[in-house]
Amino acid sequence: MKLLLYIGIALAVYWWWRQSRLQNGGPGGENARPPGRPSAPPHTAPPPAPPLTMVSCATCGVHLPLSEAFADGPGGTEPFYCSPEHRRR
Ligand SMILES: [Zn+2]
Repeated sequence: MKLLLYIGIALAVYWWWRQSRLQNGGPGGENARPPGRPSAPPHTAPPPAPPLTMVSCATCGVHLPLSEAFADGPGGTEPFYCSPEHRRR
């Protein structure tokens, strides 16, 4: 009958371990992560896209990103054009 004694001890140890875990981590285990580790998001979010400035072509009015626009003003300012052909008009 020593087997029952061992099972009882194992259950008691398991119960005690479970109680201590619940007291330390709290319900849900939100604070159970190891200390010193940054709280990373659960899924890796894609890096935020750089702000995209949209401009409109002065000839046809089509909207396009500033990086793809053809600027006619000094220093890359307005007016913008969608293509060199529209810039020449
Ligand atoms: Zn255009």
